[in-house]
Amino acid sequence: MTPDETYDLIVIGSGPGGQKAADQASKAGLKVAIVERERAVGGTCVHLGTIPSKTLREAALTIATLKRNADVFDFKLKDDMEVSTLMRRLDTVLQSYTSFISQHIGTSGGKVYLGRASFIDKNTVLVTTVKGTKIILGTKNVVIATGSRPRTPPDIPVDHEHILDSDSILSMIYLPRSLTVIGAGVIASEYASIFSLLGVRVTMIDRTPRPLMFMEPELTEKFLDNFTRNGGTYIGNAKAKSVEWNGLQVRAVLDSGEELLSDKMLVAQGRLANVEPLNLDSVEMELGRNGVIAVDGDYQTSVPNIYAVGDVIGPPSLASVSMEQGRRAIDHMLGEKSKDAIELVPIGIYSVPELSSVGLSEEQAREKYGDAIVIGRANFEEVARGQIAGIQDGMLKMIADPQGKRLLGVHIVAEGATDLVHVGEMAILNGNDIDCFLENILNFPTLGEAYRIAALDIANKRAKRASKKPEPRIQKLLDEAELN
Ligand SMILES: Cc1cc2nc3c(=O)[nH]c(=O)nc-3n(C[C@H](O)[C@H](O)[C@H](O)COP(=O)(O)OP(=O)(O)OC[C@H]3O[C@@H](n4cnc5c(N)ncnc54)[C@H](O)[C@@H]3O)c2cc1C
Repeated sequence: MTPDETYDLIVIGSGPGGQKAADQASKAGLKVAIVERERAVGGTCVHLGTIPSKTLREAALTIATLKRNADVFDFKLKDDMEVSTLMRRLDTVLQSYTSFISQHIGTSGGKVYLGRASFIDKNTVLVTTVKGTKIILGTKNVVIATGSRPRTPPDIPVDHEHILDSDSILSMIYLPRSLTVIGAGVIASEYASIFSLLGVRVTMIDRTPRPLMFMEPELTEKFLDNFTRNGGTYIGNAKAKSVEWNGLQVRAVLDSGEELLSDKMLVAQGRLANVEPLNLDSVEMELGRNGVIAVDGDYQTSVPNIYAVGDVIGPPSLASVSMEQGRRAIDHMLGEKSKDAIELVPIGIYSVPELSSVGLSEEQAREKYGDAIVIGRANFEEVARGQIAGIQDGMLKMIADPQGKRLLGVHIVAEGATDLVHVGEMAILNGNDIDCFLENILNFPTLGEAYRIAALDIANKRAKRASKKPEPRIQKLLDEAELN
């Protein structure tokens, strides 16, 4: 079959993984085509996930600030608040983001085909446009970056009007009075806390005893306190036995027999890899568990000239990780030596408040180093910037090795946690020890000071454990902290 055009590389999907792969390859001088089935480039990240949800979050935070300062601002949220009004900034953000991406792809020499891609063989890709036009592209290599979509449990009738998933939730016209959220993972927790901050009565249900089970229990406890204070309810160890739209409301009956009625429901119970339309049988590619594409450490699939990156290869399903995988896949394709596995992946959850962590959890640290690990904590109420910003429920937890020296993990819950965690990430990567936070200057007043307070806590425990007084310079800092 003679191709209409030939390339060095075809990237399927224009989300973060595909973009970075295309960019890296174009910079190296390869002739690159990107195929995207939607009307615009950007992927889930830009159109349905990260950017829209964070735009709504920003609006919710602004409204919460106005409400908190009711003595200064005469503010009341309209009863028939339209979701699109809250998302007005989104159009501007999306326009500038997508035009930046398109321009960038253009200047780096890539050609974008808008259409659905499927394999004819390992060197030939068929692009079918919305109008049905078929274009055949020949290529030496392929990167599959087709992302994922929400999983719809077979027993829940998602209709995208009353019972929604994370792709359709923001197409609601009015802000509902009540919302049931099925699920307790990242997407469920983010939307549940954002909507409850907007005054929606939110009930979250999940089989797990607490939301975000993979995060430190101390952090999720604070998340739950905040969620509950904003009017939210979490029902753990529960499952929805049946769900239906009864013509007036969404009715869920739990296995306990409890009945929940709400205006809308969000179903957020995991995601599935987008592999079906690719016709992978034609290249005899192996799939991994749960239908994701199986890859090795260099993101190479079982077909050597085809790589796969991002959500389509499974967790951690983060835009940040997808981008790095895209770059690494191209490095390997270009013959660079295999890199060490990605050592640390910071987790950022944009719930209200934010949660973020990097490195070992307390449980993992205990498993690896025993119960002698040293833990330091700082509450943001103890930090001047936290007091100024009125941060309640904020905490930074540092985990050190049994000597109380090497930093193993950092876990934060507070507004700004997703930025703040990078300080800990760099310290872990550079092998800095705990005292580095005591011996160097941090801006004042900042939330970053919490690192110093948690480090002091560790230094103190370290000294007590050795049943000797802390070294004089540490004692001086401890005395100072006591005085403040
Ligand atoms: C609500 C929500 C909030 C999120 N928040 C965050 C966050 O705060 N931080 C974070 O790091 N991550 C976040 N994520 C996850 C993040 O969006 C994904 O990890 C990331 O988008 C994955 O990138 P990707 O390149 O693998 O795929 P995607 O961004 O999903 O892009 C895949 C693209 O491939 C296209 N495609 C699929 N099949 C074909 C085909 N056959 N032919 C042509 N094109 C095709 C799709 O149309 C899509 O545009 C969030 C996700 C959701 C749903």
